[in-house]
Amino acid sequence: MKTNQTYCASLNRDKLLHHLETTHFDLLVIGGGITGCGIALDAASRGLKVGLVEKNDFASGTSSRSTKLIHGGLRYLKQFEIVLVREVGRERAIVHRLAPHLVVNEKMLLPIVEGGTFGKILTSFGLMVYDVLAGVEGEDQRVMFSRERTLQEESLLEMDILKGSGFYAEYRTDDARLTIEVMKTACEHGAVCANYIEVDDFQYNASGRVGGVNCTNKLDEGKISIKADYVVNAAGPWVDTLRKKDDSLNGKHLYLTKGVHLVVPHEKLPLKHAVYFDVPDGRMIFAIPRQQVTYIGTTDTEYKGDINHVITEHQDAQYLVDAVNNFFPSISLAVPDVISSWAGLRPLIHEEGKSASEISRKDEIFLSPNGLISIAGGKLTGYRKMAERIMEVVSKEIKKDKGIRLPEGRTKGIVLMGGAYENDKAVKKHTESISKQLMPFGMGQAEAEYLVANYGKQTDIIIKHFLEQATTTYLDLLLAELWFALNYEMVHTAQDFFNRRTGRLYFDIGSIRKYKKTILQEMALALHWSPERHQQEAGALEIALHEASHFPEGES
Ligand code: FAD
Repeated sequence: MKTNQTYCASLNRDKLLHHLETTHFDLLVIGGGITGCGIALDAASRGLKVGLVEKNDFASGTSSRSTKLIHGGLRYLKQFEIVLVREVGRERAIVHRLAPHLVVNEKMLLPIVEGGTFGKILTSFGLMVYDVLAGVEGEDQRVMFSRERTLQEESLLEMDILKGSGFYAEYRTDDARLTIEVMKTACEHGAVCANYIEVDDFQYNASGRVGGVNCTNKLDEGKISIKADYVVNAAGPWVDTLRKKDDSLNGKHLYLTKGVHLVVPHEKLPLKHAVYFDVPDGRMIFAIPRQQVTYIGTTDTEYKGDINHVITEHQDAQYLVDAVNNFFPSISLAVPDVISSWAGLRPLIHEEGKSASEISRKDEIFLSPNGLISIAGGKLTGYRKMAERIMEVVSKEIKKDKGIRLPEGRTKGIVLMGGAYENDKAVKKHTESISKQLMPFGMGQAEAEYLVANYGKQTDIIIKHFLEQATTTYLDLLLAELWFALNYEMVHTAQDFFNRRTGRLYFDIGSIRKYKKTILQEMALALHWSPERHQQEAGALEIALHEASHFPEGES
């Protein structure tokens, strides 16, 4: 197996771009979200020569802005989307097996209240069907709790209208890290993936078929031309922008809805379990405890603004704060309690007469007369299956054009980078061992849990580097993480590191404020930034910190 992992070192960018320009790829993927990275892995592991380009950072689009659940989508059952629930339900267990440190069990509490979305019988039956469709077995199957037992599990639900609850299995992840591990695994299988390369337009061969792309290198504004036999457009919310450039935007089109999540300190909403609860307008939202915070989401509103700049507005924050205060009587959150947030766009397929929440989350593939293959819709959870479906189309095209039959997909058995654990117990054992190694330096369980959840087995590389340093403080551990990101994960900006590689912008924003100066200095040194670039990066980071925690009044 030919690997191209060395290109994941940030300083190897010149070689990476040279390889992109001088190779005639079998398949070029546009978009480094979960969909594009999943396709690159599937195609590369079938032996194709694969390139992937992403206009910003990997996962910087919707794939770092989801609810971060690998879930079957209980609410889709209410809309009788049986096939979708069955497929994504089953995918949960597969993705968990491929990265057990990163896709972890998360039990959900579904309170049953008078006048709520689900009654007792419907909850019990619905959750049972959900388990059956997803093939959930043994201890993980749903249990129904009485009112008393519910309050034992979650005392914050103390209210007269509480009747009981359902307790069922889902999985939690970090969407950006999942995307990056899939990308790195694709590179391990020979794919050539580059961030900060934007496709400007398409090249067409003599017969009018798409045969390549013209791009801009967003780090230095240079131009790049890439050739490929087949081009897949996996650009998420930008899918239609590219279809338009191919002159093939007709028939079905995207319908974008905005989803916002808020982060509050755990003590402001001290939940023991993730809770999926009712909002007075008939929707349901999640509140999920994670490390030292709880996050809440999501909204679902039609979006007509700038798709390159999606932010949390005051009314989004107020909606979620009101929803929490309405459901948890002893909690009185206020918008100023929110310490971070994120806002993303769902690239859904337009359906006449349906509201944002009613539109199906199914994915669809469009094959243009010029041969551009586009995919839109879908979910993080279903990325592997979406990649298989795209590869069915690509395989058919290759068979038709060249008479070659591609091997079957095998991503079901390809463990993601860092995920080589036998089971959950092995993850726990590894965490304990990391915790022991950190104890002499005044650190322990919390740091070990964070590192293993983020990097899995790759934590050993970070710890080894950390132990080789002259000083061994918490900051040195953070610098060891940065060293890893620079050498193995293609970071080019401070936000790449603080957001998509470490999740700190959302889950530990205070640590950014504390350590940003040192991290920026280290990055400037390692990546040979000019003083202007250093200043620009510092400014961009300030804007990201401000936007995550301040919410302007919107137009609607
Ligand atoms: P993206 O992640 O947006 O990736 C597309 C990429 O293409 C972008 O990074 C973009 O920069 C790049 N691009 C665009 N144009 C160009 C160009 N010209 N050249 C190069 N690159 C380009 N799913 C779940 O399974 N579980 C959940 O809990 C969940 N919660 C969600 C909550 C919210 C609020 C939202 C919005 C979605 C949620 N989803 C969830 C759905 C899931 O997040 C998305 O389906 C998924 O992330 C989409 O990934 P993608 O790769 O298709 O798009």
